[in-house]
Amino acid sequence: MLVALLACLAGTASAATGGAGTPASGGPAPGSKVGTPDPAPSVGELRLVSAATSPRKSFFYGIRNPRLRYTIASSEPANDLRIDVVNEAGEVVKSFYRNDVAPNVEDTIQWDGTASGKQPAPNGRYRFQIVPQDESPAAMASLSRSIQEAKRQASSSAQGFVLNFSLYGYAFPILGSHDFGSSGARFGAGRAGHTHQGQDVMVDCGLPLIAARGGRVQYSGYEGNAGNYLVIDGKGTSLDMAYMHLLEPSPLQEGMTVRTGQPIGLVGQTGDATACHLHFEIWTSPGWYEGGSPVDPLPYLLRWDAYS
Ligand SMILES: [Zn+2]
Repeated sequence: MLVALLACLAGTASAATGGAGTPASGGPAPGSKVGTPDPAPSVGELRLVSAATSPRKSFFYGIRNPRLRYTIASSEPANDLRIDVVNEAGEVVKSFYRNDVAPNVEDTIQWDGTASGKQPAPNGRYRFQIVPQDESPAAMASLSRSIQEAKRQASSSAQGFVLNFSLYGYAFPILGSHDFGSSGARFGAGRAGHTHQGQDVMVDCGLPLIAARGGRVQYSGYEGNAGNYLVIDGKGTSLDMAYMHLLEPSPLQEGMTVRTGQPIGLVGQTGDATACHLHFEIWTSPGWYEGGSPVDPLPYLLRWDAYS
């Protein structure tokens, strides 16, 4: 996460000074193709030689997808494999078919965080699992022996296969220390002529804001009360999220794609604000000023804060 964090900060710095407004490196590559099983799958005697998964923590529609790089050894030049994404309950949530995988050549799988039905997979810990497509007992056994052997060696040499990672649907939108203010900061608190439609998060001006959920920028602009603000239509969710009082106009413009965790601007106090803070809103379907309603964002923020 440290690397991702640094990438975020670097992205913000360039956005703040350059103002080019391009998303950080254009976002991740799409997930790997699911592929199709080989009609007559075959494998040699298999062994796993290397396996590394990074990052260990990622976000749905985020800057980097969970990515497995692995290498097999085999008695055969072409091996039909299946790479499963397995949840903590041991259930397979997605499978990738890799046909004719050669020994001693690194192969890469990227998971876009969707389950088989294209829906975002729930928050949680996952692991990649490499299995022969034919699931022959001999091939399964030799693969699992090599994984067990690597685990044994790992305890002494600190080397081993990394197949585990976690995936979250949302990121906490502020990088830096913050608090949720007093009762006046709460959703539903009284304001002159209306009630407060969001949660205020007290935080120093100038700290980076990131997208809690990526998606499409629905609105980016300035308004007397909101100051510089941004609304994002969350990808794969019915929720819209609004970020207000930004120090400067967001480098992101309407219609742009934004990734979960991508820098969107800096904390400020533009508009009707007496202190540096983020005013954060969540709107239900069909969305922000599209017929949806604002809901209390604090339970969401607390949950995201706990793991971010
Ligand atoms: Zn507010």
